[in-house]
Amino acid sequence: MDPQLLKQFMAEGKMPNFSLLAAKGSFRLLTTSIPPQSPVAWSNLITGMNAGGHGIFDFIHRDPHTLQPYFSASRVEPPKRGIRLGNWVVPLGGGSAEQLRQGKSFWETLDAYGVPNLIFRMPSNFPPVPAKGKTLSGMGTPDLRGSYGTFSFYTDDPLKTAGAVEGGQIVPVEVKESQVSANLVGPDNTFRKGSPPALEPFTVSVDPLEPVAKFVVQDEKFVLREGEWSDWVHIQFQLIPFIGNVKGICRFYFKQAHPRFELYVSPINIDPADPALPISTPKSYSRELSEEVGEFYTQGISEDTKARSAGVLDDKEYLQQSRTVLAEHRKIFDLEFPKFHSGLFFFYFSSLDLNSHMLWRLIDPHHPEYDSPLAAEFGSALPEFYQQIDQVLGEVLQRADDHTTVLVLSDHGFAPYNRSFNLNTWLLNRGYITLKNEPNPDQSQAFANVDWSRTRAYGLGLNGLYLNLRGRERKGIVEGAEADRLLKEIKEDLLGVRDSQNNLAAITRVDLASEAYQGPYARQGPDLIVGYNRGYRAGWQTILGNFPADVFEDNTNPWSGDHCMDYTLVPGVLLSNRPIAAPHPALTDIAPTIFAEFGIPKPGGMMGHTVF
Ligand SMILES: [Zn+2]
Repeated sequence: MDPQLLKQFMAEGKMPNFSLLAAKGSFRLLTTSIPPQSPVAWSNLITGMNAGGHGIFDFIHRDPHTLQPYFSASRVEPPKRGIRLGNWVVPLGGGSAEQLRQGKSFWETLDAYGVPNLIFRMPSNFPPVPAKGKTLSGMGTPDLRGSYGTFSFYTDDPLKTAGAVEGGQIVPVEVKESQVSANLVGPDNTFRKGSPPALEPFTVSVDPLEPVAKFVVQDEKFVLREGEWSDWVHIQFQLIPFIGNVKGICRFYFKQAHPRFELYVSPINIDPADPALPISTPKSYSRELSEEVGEFYTQGISEDTKARSAGVLDDKEYLQQSRTVLAEHRKIFDLEFPKFHSGLFFFYFSSLDLNSHMLWRLIDPHHPEYDSPLAAEFGSALPEFYQQIDQVLGEVLQRADDHTTVLVLSDHGFAPYNRSFNLNTWLLNRGYITLKNEPNPDQSQAFANVDWSRTRAYGLGLNGLYLNLRGRERKGIVEGAEADRLLKEIKEDLLGVRDSQNNLAAITRVDLASEAYQGPYARQGPDLIVGYNRGYRAGWQTILGNFPADVFEDNTNPWSGDHCMDYTLVPGVLLSNRPIAAPHPALTDIAPTIFAEFGIPKPGGMMGHTVF
């Protein structure tokens, strides 16, 4: 939730419950994390510490020895050892998932003091830490393939290039005598030699004249008209006969019957009724929930922004999908909230974040992807998501009595993302990076072409800049006093960068890790945190260590709003039904505030203070 948009919608009378809360209680800007990325921000809230204390610095970290990037929040590993039996590898011990965040979550402390709590879809909590109360994991939870969401798009259109796209795959099919046979792609079958992905066939019988088809997926049969979505469809992947099965759920969207066959299948989600990886505490909670409200998205980022960016779903279709996600969350909220009588109840809604990312170009005429017919048709969608959150707040305020403290917060605000800054290309042009060969803009291997013996600094992740440090990086060359001097030089250099298109500063703030972070992990992240101006963000390619030709590019991706910027320019919001005393509350104050409300002493190492 962005404070500027919130104020605008309140002034327009669209957010009556927020207006009421702001008038009777308090409304403050909430200082976000450095950098203002969700996994970092929510870890600040969860632990009451900054990244030096919880060790999450960015969506993407790197191994300093290999410089291989990896997702920072969790690691999913297949079974490590096995016995070969022909084509089958019989596993010794199951696969595992490991949470990489450090530091204690506030609800573990609440558990220790006997305060009942429910924690719904807290980001950066996969797999969920052991807890006494009900928790369901959120952002960071993979789909059944272990990815952060891989959709499939089946088509006989020869113009659609088959193969992997960002966040999905295009699968060519043939329509033979009105029949399509294809496979759903499951997890890599680590039980088989070479670990091929597990496949399960399905068939589609397309009516030769009408835009309608019959689908058969294992023992489920259903009919969809063109433009219709299926309910959740159950699928079981057989990994090893009779022993190793995993269950998933997915939704089918029949995009087009004729003249071309077009079918979207959502990422295959972990089945909450029988989860293949841990997604809740107690383990039975996700099943109990599915028994009461039906199946629901379990993958961390449920809104299929990748299918929209790949052009597989258009705005109308993306919005249908995205509204379903919010409808599921509201259904669960309406089930759980009335059951709550004392303790702490935490509920996370993802809709404002993901939809602000995708729909900014429809509310902002200055955005390079602004399109007035599309804006006329779908420009009201983002305000409508805000209004739905206002309705939820209405339900909360109606039930909360005078002894109940209500906190409404967003971990960061929002800004347009008009222009990309390719940090690694800039470092190359400024002589901080040397390549072995001429730069190849198409190279897919991160840093494959970098001559590390003549490279002093590199960018990785959305805001990170690292020195090539001797003793840390495998081929590090920077050492001693030179490191500090170089960091100051690069910082000054970055703050002077102007976008020649409009002469704006692209970078308004650069933080030294040594000043920004406190705690045992403070030196494990980047050395500089690059804070972009509103309108700017690290380019899509530079994040993973590639070198597009130009330093600046227009952002033409439908992902058009962002917040991975100068943290002082994208504050979140904090509202309460009680007067907030702190003039500048921060995310790190939330856990201490919760403890103060329950009379629990603040644990050592926590940075903040109660906001009241
Ligand atoms: Zn976001």
